[in-house]
Amino acid sequence: MERNWKCVSCGVELERKKAVFDYMGRSFSENLLKCPKCGKVLITSDLAAGRMREVEEMLEDK
Ligand SMILES: [Zn+2]
Repeated sequence: MERNWKCVSCGVELERKKAVFDYMGRSFSENLLKCPKCGKVLITSDLAAGRMREVEEMLEDK
């Protein structure tokens, strides 16, 4: 499942970091991949899709 991601601009392997991001007024903490050189954070499409779906479901439950 896990693969190594490289920063497209720096060519270095991304590090796994705990990060917090906001979506629709809610905060989520997630292990994200971050470039140690330029600081760019990669949110994989799987993560984005999964998280966004969770948020949408939570909002619908109200
Ligand atoms: Zn980089």
